[in-house]
Amino acid sequence: MQPGAIAIIGGGFAGTTLPRELDRALPFGYQLLLISEESHTTFTPMLPEVVGAGVFPEQIVAPISQVVRRARFVMGRVTSIDFAARTITCATLAGPSMFPYEHVVLAFGLRARLDMIPGAAQHALPLKTIRDATRLRNLVLRRLARLELETDPLLRQRPGHFVVIGGGFSGVETAGALADSLRNIAPYYPRVAPGEVKLTLLQDIDRLLAELPERLGDAQHRSLMERSVDARVNAKAERVDERGGRSATARCWRHRRLSAQSAGCRIHSSKTLRSCSTAAGSSSTPTCPLSGPRRLGDRRLRPHSQRL
Ligand SMILES: Cc1cc2nc3c(=O)[nH]c(=O)nc-3n(C[C@H](O)[C@H](O)[C@H](O)COP(=O)(O)OP(=O)(O)OC[C@H]3O[C@@H](n4cnc5c(N)ncnc54)[C@H](O)[C@@H]3O)c2cc1C
Repeated sequence: MQPGAIAIIGGGFAGTTLPRELDRALPFGYQLLLISEESHTTFTPMLPEVVGAGVFPEQIVAPISQVVRRARFVMGRVTSIDFAARTITCATLAGPSMFPYEHVVLAFGLRARLDMIPGAAQHALPLKTIRDATRLRNLVLRRLARLELETDPLLRQRPGHFVVIGGGFSGVETAGALADSLRNIAPYYPRVAPGEVKLTLLQDIDRLLAELPERLGDAQHRSLMERSVDARVNAKAERVDERGGRSATARCWRHRRLSAQSAGCRIHSSKTLRSCSTAAGSSSTPTCPLSGPRRLGDRRLRPHSQRL
């Protein structure tokens, strides 16, 4: 790469948008280099639908080299940057590679944090990448398949209980997508009793969707409860372990590592369980998760708040 290169690290929303924005403004002689560890970019707002098996994983990813035609794309994981020498080192499938640059843009996003709750790294599953979403979807389907065959009543108690930690946008959407999915696939698992499949959402503060006006958070709470999600506020996940935990009110939780951010978890306080009596709208469209894609064209990248 000759001097005059603008290197962008990360092929997410920022990294794939920038080359298109720069396209016409790029001074003569400059080249764009985009380095990202995966060959695809992911439409993260639809990850919850992948967890709920409402869409296939392939439908929410796009090859970076197709999306960003103007830049040279290198698939590699950046391991170091020498800012003095202006070089980037990355691990690629062809071994370590070094690229000189004149300007560098760091657009490598965030990683899911599993160190916030003790035990989460060992027993909970994050939801950040397409791989995470696929893993969660498969875990749910495998649990149901196991329940369908399990004959020991004791062993049937835990596999069907899924816990989502976090009542923000992603947690609420994941719980909603999972609830719809579990309801729709229930007929395909005739030996699984309705009470054997449970979905709990834990939110540490006193309402869901704290970024939105309270009435919208409450409406979403009611919507989840009506879809049989045990959505709890003031319920802080203290720790996650393999066998479950105990809440402040001495209610025993017996379930294994499960969902979007959770597993068997100890609950700080489960005192506030809001009761719900009226229906609330939801953007989620129930479909049979095993029957293929649902309508796709109507989802664009919008702030979470516009999608609830
Ligand atoms: C489940 C979920 C739902 C969401 N829904 C919405 C929504 O509805 N609306 C909304 O506005 N936002 C939503 N977000 C947030 C949105 O995804 C982020 O704000 C956005 O992805 C940030 O873009 P980014 O380009 O900075 O990082 P990212 O999209 O995370 O991209 C970072 C890229 O850098 C790559 N990378 C990281 N480290 C390296 C390295 N060392 N070397 C090379 N490459 C590297 C990664 O593989 C990745 O491709 C959601 C997020 C999640 C997890």
